[in-house]
Amino acid sequence: MSEFRQNPATKEWVIIATERARRPEDFKPAHECDAHPPEQEYDPDCPFCPGNEHLAADPTYVDPDAESWKVRVVRNKYAALDRETKPQRVPHGNFLSATGYGVAEVVIETPVHNLPLHSRSQDDIFRYVKALKARQHAISHFPDISHVTIFKNHGPRAGTSLAHPHSQIIATPIIPPHVRDPFQKAMQHYDTYGSCVYCDLVQEELRQQERVVVENEHFVAFCPFASRSPFEARIYPKRHIQSYHWTADNELESFAAILRDITERIYTALDNPDYNFIIRSAPVGDEDVRYLHWYFILIPKVTTPAGFEIGTGIYINVVPPEEAARRLRDTPASQVS
Ligand SMILES: [Zn+2]
Ligand SMILES: [Zn+2]
Repeated sequence: MSEFRQNPATKEWVIIATERARRPEDFKPAHECDAHPPEQEYDPDCPFCPGNEHLAADPTYVDPDAESWKVRVVRNKYAALDRETKPQRVPHGNFLSATGYGVAEVVIETPVHNLPLHSRSQDDIFRYVKALKARQHAISHFPDISHVTIFKNHGPRAGTSLAHPHSQIIATPIIPPHVRDPFQKAMQHYDTYGSCVYCDLVQEELRQQERVVVENEHFVAFCPFASRSPFEARIYPKRHIQSYHWTADNELESFAAILRDITERIYTALDNPDYNFIIRSAPVGDEDVRYLHWYFILIPKVTTPAGFEIGTGIYINVVPPEEAARRLRDTPASQVS
């Protein structure tokens, strides 16, 4: 049984997951598969390839419009959190823990084993981002869920153990300081200036332009002014939307387009780097406030945080975001429909 434990000095939580089953390992050592997607379109041993649906857990979502599925979402068989557990704080002497309640799902983005995100059609990416929206919406209504995180780990250095394109959704009954603290700063900004700090920074990046990589009707992608790592790229909705699942479908089409564009530029410019991306939304219950704004952040794993970064939280970024944005702008992106 896994459990949350809180550091009493920082109020940060960890998950102690001693019984976590070993996940399927289909990756060779990192150096052998760094820059290359798997060769085959279909892997008979892959639990996410068509025909092997029985190897994964029961689906919570199957793209309803397609005869053969285009996107499937399944419960994570190897999750550190369990949706059947009763959420409860449990004291350990003067320390605090909590039962390992939470929701963990895996989004199988495509039936094709070796198809990177940017190589899919606009329609397929739209189906994928719509599945994320549907599941975030449903999971937000689970009892006691306070925060829903959508993320993707691409490649072994980013922490994935499965080659088949997939992302994850993890929902917790806890809002960690890592999420809460910036949102409190955003509230202070609202109290001072009467505006959403994220709307303000989007306006400023659009005005200065030098870090903007690409924009469309509803979204803008840029390397932020204070990027913590080389080629950190963010996508923000231009409209004030607090939570990803509140994004309208016509806006999601626009998001699918800019997501394809930015991931293609990163893929080409950095030769298929490992990366993590995260979609951060307002906590459940805070989705109608004027100071929270959802965003997408992609971090290529081209550097490793070292002692100074871990010790101070101040990251040393060796590629100025203006230079990173210029290189991404200069990288051709294909026009697809
Ligand atoms: Zn597969
Ligand atoms: Zn805003």
